[in-house]
Amino acid sequence: MDISIVVPLFNEEESLPKLAEWIDRVLREHSLSYEIIMVDDGSKDRSWQVIESLSKQNPAIKGVKFRRNYGKSAALNVGFEHAEGDVVITMDADLQDSPDELPELFKMIKQDGYDLVSGWKKVRYDSTIAKNIPSKLYNATTRKLSGIKLHDFNCGLKAYRKEVVKSIEVYGEMHRYIPIIAKWAGFTKIGEKVVKHRKREFGVSKFGMNRFINGYLDLMSIMFVSKFGKKPMHFFGLLGSIMFIVGIISAIVLGVQKLIAVSNGEAMRLITDSPYFYLALCTIILGTQLFLTGFVSELIGRNSPSRNTYLIERELNFENDYENRRNN
Ligand code: UDP
Ligand code: MG
Repeated sequence: MDISIVVPLFNEEESLPKLAEWIDRVLREHSLSYEIIMVDDGSKDRSWQVIESLSKQNPAIKGVKFRRNYGKSAALNVGFEHAEGDVVITMDADLQDSPDELPELFKMIKQDGYDLVSGWKKVRYDSTIAKNIPSKLYNATTRKLSGIKLHDFNCGLKAYRKEVVKSIEVYGEMHRYIPIIAKWAGFTKIGEKVVKHRKREFGVSKFGMNRFINGYLDLMSIMFVSKFGKKPMHFFGLLGSIMFIVGIISAIVLGVQKLIAVSNGEAMRLITDSPYFYLALCTIILGTQLFLTGFVSELIGRNSPSRNTYLIERELNFENDYENRRNN
């Protein structure tokens, strides 16, 4: 199969028939074989009934229904697990992403050798200043921190080589950062394609302004995990040591000052009357705690069920190659 299209959806009953019909028409024209995996993320409307009836008309339409609303990331993750096509493309259900882009995205993965291609809604139809400026800021920060040159990280329309989606896990609210997760897993050929953006035809947006606050918090944690996830001591240990050493040196300086004063017979205030004493004390305590946090994180890391954290691309001269061994 050429393409798996993964569509996460939450209360999008009106859009689905048109979306399915449009995808089918475009891919038929280009003679591409496909499946559409519609993941109903706990919709409260008739979305699931619509999916059921669509799947009867067209066996290429498959459905997964969540018991409740788990969020877009969970929906994408389940879609990725089920996907069987050589190229996996995610798109929103609300018709804001145009199915006309599918063949070109397919070509970029299949022929141009990209691991991941992200859409870029260069001209947007849902922008107010309140959404536009935070969005620009957010993309610039993410670009800077991740080193990935994309203009529109949050675009729902993205295409992946199958191996990519089978190797990564989209947890929490991390769907905004799949390019970072992919890059971190070793898939570095990341491309971008300007895509047409359309007005939402039915229903309302499911994400409000809090997407930016949550987005930044997620960015912090993903940068932290990607840098120090496997070696937390390098972060906490370094910070803790610096604080501890600064604290100890300050305490010693205070003590020595006092000793010199006493031996010269000068009058001097008690060490405990100096504000620096309390600063030094605080720094020592915080430093020690950071250090211990590092140990605790290492213990948690060692004892949590670990997935394979390295991906092998090729091997030479082994009887069984990596894929076979893993499947046996
Ligand atoms: N969505 C989802 N689960 C949620 C929220 C949204 O599956 O909890 C889907 C939604 O149905 C749509 C896509 O994610 O297909 C993008 O959502 P939306 O269009 O509301 O976001 P926006 O276009 O405003 O960024
Ligand atoms: Mg939308």
